[in-house]
Amino acid sequence: MALVVQKYGGTSVGSIERIQAVANRVQKTVKQGNSLVVVVSAMGKTTDTLVKLAKGVSNNPSRREMDMLLSTGEQVTIALLSMALQELGQPAISLTGAQVGIVTEAEHNRARILQVSTDRLQRHLDKGEVVVVAGFQGVSSIKDFEITTLGRGGSDTSAVALAASLKADRCEIYTDVPGILTTDPRLVPSAQLMSEITADEMLELASLGAKVLHPRAVEIARNYGMPLVVLSSWSNQPGTKVVSRLPQPRSLQGMEIAKAVDGVEVDRDQAKIALLRVPDFPGVAASLFGEISQRNIDVDLIIQSIHEGNSNDIAFTVVNRVLQQAEAVAEAIAPSLRTHPAATTEAEVMVDRKIAKVAISGAGMIGRPGIAAKMFKTLADAKINIQMISTSEVKVSCVINESECDRALHLLSQAFDIDLSSQKEIAVNKYPGKHPPVRGIAIDTKQAQIGIRHVPDTPGMAAQIFSLLAKKNISVDAIIQSQRCHIVNDVPTRDIAFTVEQADAEQACKLISELNQQIGCGSVTGDTAIAKLSVVGAGMIGHPGVAAKFFAALAQEKINIQMITTSEIKISCVIAESEGIKALNAVHEAFGLGGEERVNISA
Ligand code: ASP
Ligand code: MG
Repeated sequence: MALVVQKYGGTSVGSIERIQAVANRVQKTVKQGNSLVVVVSAMGKTTDTLVKLAKGVSNNPSRREMDMLLSTGEQVTIALLSMALQELGQPAISLTGAQVGIVTEAEHNRARILQVSTDRLQRHLDKGEVVVVAGFQGVSSIKDFEITTLGRGGSDTSAVALAASLKADRCEIYTDVPGILTTDPRLVPSAQLMSEITADEMLELASLGAKVLHPRAVEIARNYGMPLVVLSSWSNQPGTKVVSRLPQPRSLQGMEIAKAVDGVEVDRDQAKIALLRVPDFPGVAASLFGEISQRNIDVDLIIQSIHEGNSNDIAFTVVNRVLQQAEAVAEAIAPSLRTHPAATTEAEVMVDRKIAKVAISGAGMIGRPGIAAKMFKTLADAKINIQMISTSEVKVSCVINESECDRALHLLSQAFDIDLSSQKEIAVNKYPGKHPPVRGIAIDTKQAQIGIRHVPDTPGMAAQIFSLLAKKNISVDAIIQSQRCHIVNDVPTRDIAFTVEQADAEQACKLISELNQQIGCGSVTGDTAIAKLSVVGAGMIGHPGVAAKFFAALAQEKINIQMITTSEIKISCVIAESEGIKALNAVHEAFGLGGEERVNISA
């Protein structure tokens, strides 16, 4: 007999008929010999309606009363579903978050789960009852029973948290789409359903998948190794499996406030190649990485930051063994760039063997400003200079001097409280099986790009900039510090660029401009008309040519790449917003992700 947690979203329980359909499915699962806990959302658009009601009363309703209000939506559904089950002759009982004992931190409207008591759930399950639990809610104290909610879309997180606490066999998330698609089907009609995706890929694709599956739910599944599947409650199709590797043993206490960072890595065996002052023109990255992949050379980080006039710098890292080969390719390309019609200055190749990469990773850094800043500050306090920065949703990588590498590892593991002896196992414990180089593609048009010119190339600059933003609660997405170096008043400087939510752009620009006057950087620029395109795939590790194909697809459409940033399983390019959809379609096609048949996404 298996213990299964099922979660049904708002549309799946949007009417009496739908609730009855869910009751039938639940009963069928029980009859197949399973024990069942069912988590539900509020019916249809109930939560939105409740938000509107509150707005009618107050422009600025208190967070506590908002939780009191919003948590009622789920309470309606649990009672109705329980009745519908009883009507079918299936013993069932509904429980609120408080009745179960879902304890959260005392943060109204965005509480994270600390722990879930399983005693009462277990008692009902032992009696053969289906337990129907209200999603999205908990209590911050079992003395005062203060009701908290987890943030919009949080029922997924409730479900996975219950599943992990009960050590369930699997968690099934029922929704109104057939699963997770290779990209947004409204933008790319040929998008296809994925049969499987790793939790790490899912997190990197947060901007694609977040509407289907709450990233915090993915994080819990990943941390506790909970098998997860996303599927439609309208059909019997198998949906998309979200697989996790075998996790490190982990306490169920403090479930969601566990460390934001769970890995620190260094890689000494890296060398950097930079192509300086290349014309800022579509196709340059494509021809460089095309040549490199033809020689079967695997590149690790690729970083290109904001352009300068008509030129840009592209830097990348490779393992030392192939440095000469990669350098030869770059040298061979440089002359053609010099004679390029758009060239205004001489392209030049620069190589550095004496570098190392340090990186921190962890799903917990999503939406938590300040993690990157803490890394930069830790390095700055130790007077370690950061040469380049590249980030993804769940990883921050810095290129530093090789001689500082041991110190950096030691200090970062201290700062983030990471036991280095457990790290080796994580590296070995990769996802088993074969994975495609590109699983899915996300586009994000809600970001703005901010560039800071001529930041003095001394330890502590990035730390100051990103600590300031974190203090104001501004979440930074991609951070890119490129190779380009300028001597301004005898001081070497570099440009730093990053992306933030468009809504935060103005404030971020203002804050940075103020800081600038103290630390003496160049001008600050902002651009909201950008799109960030990301290709993600666990199989791109050790599979040369993914970046080349990505850049070539953009070049073919004559789309200029403004910035590039990478992690192991992700490559992101910032391009002009107006070219976003064209680019997405071209890249999706280039990786052969499209299918003939349109996936039916309307429930
Ligand atoms: N009802 C809540 C919302 O609409 C939680 C959820 O459905 O996941 O955000
Ligand atoms: Mg949802």
